[in-house]
Amino acid sequence: MTELERKQERAPVPSAWTYAPAPEARDIVTLREQYGHFVGGEWLEPKETYTTISPATEEPLAEVGQATPEEVAAAVDAARAAYDNGWSEIAPSERAKYLFRIARILQERSREFAVLESLNGGKPIKESRDVDLPLSAAHFFYYAGWADKLEYAFPNQRPRPLGVAGQIIPWNFPLLMLAWKIAPALAAGNTVVLKPAETTPLSALLFCDVLRQAELPPGVVNIVTGDGRTGAEIVKSGGVDKVAFTGSTDVGKAIQRELAGSGKKLTLELGGKAANIIFDDAALDQAVEGIINGIYFNQGHVCCAGSRLLVQESIYEPVVDKLKRRLTTLRVGDPLDKNTDVGAINSKQQLEKIQQLVASGAEEGAEIYQPPCRLPEKGYWFAPTVFTNVAQSYRIAQEEIFGPVLSILTFRTPEEAVEKANNTPYGLSAGVWTEKGSRILWMAERLRAGVVWANTYNRFDPSSPFGGYKESGFGREGGRHGLEPYLRLT
Ligand code: NDP
Repeated sequence: MTELERKQERAPVPSAWTYAPAPEARDIVTLREQYGHFVGGEWLEPKETYTTISPATEEPLAEVGQATPEEVAAAVDAARAAYDNGWSEIAPSERAKYLFRIARILQERSREFAVLESLNGGKPIKESRDVDLPLSAAHFFYYAGWADKLEYAFPNQRPRPLGVAGQIIPWNFPLLMLAWKIAPALAAGNTVVLKPAETTPLSALLFCDVLRQAELPPGVVNIVTGDGRTGAEIVKSGGVDKVAFTGSTDVGKAIQRELAGSGKKLTLELGGKAANIIFDDAALDQAVEGIINGIYFNQGHVCCAGSRLLVQESIYEPVVDKLKRRLTTLRVGDPLDKNTDVGAINSKQQLEKIQQLVASGAEEGAEIYQPPCRLPEKGYWFAPTVFTNVAQSYRIAQEEIFGPVLSILTFRTPEEAVEKANNTPYGLSAGVWTEKGSRILWMAERLRAGVVWANTYNRFDPSSPFGGYKESGFGREGGRHGLEPYLRLT
């Protein structure tokens, strides 16, 4: 026995692990008292404002503009002027340089952005630091690479920009969704008017600082803030040539109706109710980690979240036991603490929606499990939740909850798994866990989902296209496919 082994033998085994607080410092972020709209490279004094808060503490963070129709029109005019006065004409390799610059500045300022993202959105700092920020920078790097290669991406099709893109993004990945929208639009030679979600405007407003630092010509990117009314103004603006929307299916449908017959191009990235399918030959401990990542990552505020777990009947008990045990180790609390796994729910409204759907699950007859955990008194919180005994017809198995809530169903055969997985109006993503490559391919061919992950979940890469079928929307973001909605091809 070595000295180390002797020491380990003598060391008492801790009965439970406790974590000391590990808060990330906030002082790297300097907030202004009030923000205007970023139009034509300048800050436009807002006519109306509202207060944006931290969902973890309900503390007010800043006053932000609620854009009026006139302010939206000014942003669209600025984007049009920038498009006509040079942006669409400059050498593509010059456009690439701006995108590279933006990417590098995001990397340099990533800690500042990560802290702000967690502060305004409630997501754990380890996620904004390790996922949102690196991926946002990666998107700009990736599309910078395409800017001067469009002729190669679409040979014999004369790719040309469309003009002004109106972009509306949600609150679950504020900076990352901004990157998904702005990077391909600029690489293709368009200019942009973007609206962040009402509850999470601050990282988009800080991004304006990055645009200035990168010396992007004024008006190429304009940011207006406000609620759904501002989004609706962008959609119906006659000066917008293309609309890109990520958000709820209901609003997506309303936008599609509004734009019918207008000739404007449209991409919609909407909701999901993904099946995460575990076969009995899967590596169970890894699968349990994949289940956790699939549904509790970003508090389940993820359009492609693995919110319906389909477990092969023969391994149902061990999977549920392991999952419940793993749930007890999740740390829920302060988003700025580096040990936190599950942060705050993004808004009061979203918390009420989650509570309502969870209540419906219990009423319809499902069995609820929540690990013992003390939730903070202030702010919006919801404990990680698992439902067993779920029938396919229950609302919790049909509707997008967009919260840390998992519904577990079982299946016996691969055919039954496919049938159940596809039994949803959505079709954004799915996960398959099995040791057999042939089974993965067999499943992937039959699952009506834009993305199928195999033995992993929630993996993103800028070179990989992302988007849905059915009520999850249409059009792809990411990869070469992500350029196409921003180009006229002949
Ligand atoms: P919304 O679809 O309302 O929000 C998405 C974006 O659209 C926001 O910027 C929003 O502004 C804007 N918007 C709202 N109404 C309009 C309109 N009529 N025209 C144009 N733009 C509009 O989602 P919610 O925030 O209300 O969330 C509701 C549900 O949607 C969630 O519970 C979740 O199930 C789902 N959702 C799905 C997402 C996804 O990625 N698939 C993302 C977000 C939500 P504002 O922020 O002011 O409302």
